[in-house]
Amino acid sequence: MSTPLIELIDIRKSYGGGDSPQVDVLRGIDLAIHAGEFIAIVGASGSGKSTLMNILGCLDRPTSGQYRFAGEDVALLNIDELAWLRREAFGFVFQGYHLIPSSSAQENVEMPAIYAGTSALQRAERAQALLQRLGLGERIGNRPRQLSGGQQQRVSIARALMNGGHIILADEPTGALDSHSGVEVMNLLDELAAQGHVVILITHDRDVAARAQRIIEVRDGEVISDSGTGQNRPEPGAGALHADDLRRRLSQANTERSPWLGETRDALQAAWRVMWTNRMRTALTLLGIIIGVASVVVMLAVGEGSKRQVMAQMGAFGSNILFMNGAPPAPRAPSGHIRLSDVRALADLPQVRTIMAATTLKAQVRYGNRDMTSTIGGYSPVFPKIFSWPLTAGSFFTDADMTSAAAVAVIGSEVQKKLFVDGRDPVGQYILIENVPFQVIGVLASKGSSGANQRNDLRIAIPYTAARIRLSGAEYPEYVVIGAADSTLVHEAEQAIRSLMLRLHNGVADFEIDNSAALIQAEAHTRNGLSLMLGAIAAISLLVGGIGVMNVMLMTVRERTREIGIRIATGARQRDILRQFLTEAVVLSLVGGLIGIALALLIGSALTLADVAVAFSSLAMLGAFACSVATGVIFGFMPARKAAGLDPVAALTSE
Ligand code: ADP
Ligand code: MG
Repeated sequence: MSTPLIELIDIRKSYGGGDSPQVDVLRGIDLAIHAGEFIAIVGASGSGKSTLMNILGCLDRPTSGQYRFAGEDVALLNIDELAWLRREAFGFVFQGYHLIPSSSAQENVEMPAIYAGTSALQRAERAQALLQRLGLGERIGNRPRQLSGGQQQRVSIARALMNGGHIILADEPTGALDSHSGVEVMNLLDELAAQGHVVILITHDRDVAARAQRIIEVRDGEVISDSGTGQNRPEPGAGALHADDLRRRLSQANTERSPWLGETRDALQAAWRVMWTNRMRTALTLLGIIIGVASVVVMLAVGEGSKRQVMAQMGAFGSNILFMNGAPPAPRAPSGHIRLSDVRALADLPQVRTIMAATTLKAQVRYGNRDMTSTIGGYSPVFPKIFSWPLTAGSFFTDADMTSAAAVAVIGSEVQKKLFVDGRDPVGQYILIENVPFQVIGVLASKGSSGANQRNDLRIAIPYTAARIRLSGAEYPEYVVIGAADSTLVHEAEQAIRSLMLRLHNGVADFEIDNSAALIQAEAHTRNGLSLMLGAIAAISLLVGGIGVMNVMLMTVRERTREIGIRIATGARQRDILRQFLTEAVVLSLVGGLIGIALALLIGSALTLADVAVAFSSLAMLGAFACSVATGVIFGFMPARKAAGLDPVAALTSE
């Protein structure tokens, strides 16, 4: 005799125990079921039929005894293998149909195939064919509540057959139906049995039971009669599945991957439907996320905007520049001087990266028949570096030009515009500065069109030595430009310079250091701190939004407990359920995040109109977006895990 498909050996199930009285629902059931059998289990209400069915279908575990499926001890199977059995071997038909109310007939039928990883096209085709065959071709798009009880039960039979349904477990399938629909459903089960499906039918109705080939009667958790123990069973039909075949496929269940693509689509659809069905609740939850994300983005933008404003105040020159010039040590005393030897000494300070002595004079400049007044600056070759001021043409003068006091000039962009009107390349041309010929060797890039910057572009840079020897010839530098080694340490650099200068000048403070850069930096610092604080407040509101998501997800899990039970009964793995609810949480917070960013941009433009400096960085927006996704994952995890951990029997019977 071949291995039975299902073999129960002394199966017992008790509830309670401990402080509550123990109820023995099943008291030693022995049963062998072979391929091709059509069995009815009859018994009065409360005799333990459903409990037995749940154990057979691997929705529940017995308290003791052994359940062998195709020869395998079910107690030794892991959760994925049990899910495989529910998905591929069994097909459940319940008294209460257990369809997912928000899904159409077709979607309900397709569900087991989603978890089996069948492609969308195949799924749709098979579901439609099954519904057609069961006389529901016109109803594939209907929701369960748009169908009669008989129709709903036929949908659930189609669902049981979706992945093959080798063993149909039908628990009082006609219990809630009128007699006509009941007969229809029974005819269907008859047909399936004839095609080789194992049909296990539970009923308390003897007339219904009479249609089966084998009748097992249960009373108070014990089998009291069994019409056939397998000897006179019919030969299994051609379509019947053999135990060996099932066992072989079961052994591969663990290596199957979750079909994440199909499931994600299903989860997105489900998420969308839940959100839409509970519009008001969704809107309120979204509001939390929207406010959180919008405030994060706006706060960061305002912070960044105010920082950029300060940066703009620093002018076009960069943030690490100090200016030093001679000054009277006391009121009415003569001004001190900065000497070139001071400059050399200062250059050795570690806080000083670059240093440049400068002298300026206003002079008449002529080229051909055009002339203008320009500021002539005697600088050193570090000029482009210290001011981060590139050239658009030619090159800057070199140390050799400095040594030889070469008559070379680098002109500002406005000078080029005013003197070289015909568009001629100024490089190589000679201009007259105070009637001294200088050769133009380069053109400075424009520093911009605002008033002060335009004046910057009106300058001509020549070697410091040439300014002294060939032009007005002041003995001392007019001022010194110092580039601090680190733009965050301008203040420290200023301190170091001051103390060295005092030493060099015998303690007389006959100089002054323009520390506006340091002041501006200090302000930028404060604003940084401020925007950090604003950001923190915004982050807290995002946190509150996340808690809202968690709350709603917990509510959803509770409301949809039965749906979760149905999904598990049709073969969802634990991680499938986890993923579904996680996806829903992420969708929720993702939608909130997107609306939040849109709202932030709206607020931003309003603020701009109100003259508040805002600067949206794509990084901040990306960050906020990532935050909202992370919120969904973090706050969705707990509810999702709760859903995945639900007990299927309890979930199915919950209201
Ligand atoms: P049937 O389907 O034959 O009507 P059930 O299998 O549903 O019977 O229930 C059999 C008995 O087990 C009933 O007396 C019921 O009260 C009890 N029972 C079922 N589930 C539980 C449970 N979770 N806790 C305690 N008792 C239960
Ligand atoms: Mg029952």
